[in-house]
Amino acid sequence: MYEHCPHCGLRYEIEPGYFVGAMYVSYAISGGVALLIGFLLFYLADDPEGWVYAAVVAPVMVLIAPINFRLSRVIWLHYVAGIKYQPGL
Ligand SMILES: [Zn+2]
Repeated sequence: MYEHCPHCGLRYEIEPGYFVGAMYVSYAISGGVALLIGFLLFYLADDPEGWVYAAVVAPVMVLIAPINFRLSRVIWLHYVAGIKYQPGL
């Protein structure tokens, strides 16, 4: 992730440790994805054994980690810091 916006120079990390709060967003995204996978397994795979849930959810969590990391920071930055996207700036 860039330290500053390459276009307008905005510093993303407003203060030290600012993105620690993005962990809450990341947790919510991970929980939502895990729940969705759990429901899909329950209904589509006819409620498999417990280890199947773990064997499917754990790799998916690892695979979406890079996306989740960036997405949670973007959400945190826009909804908590109040930074608005201004095209053309
Ligand atoms: Zn910018």
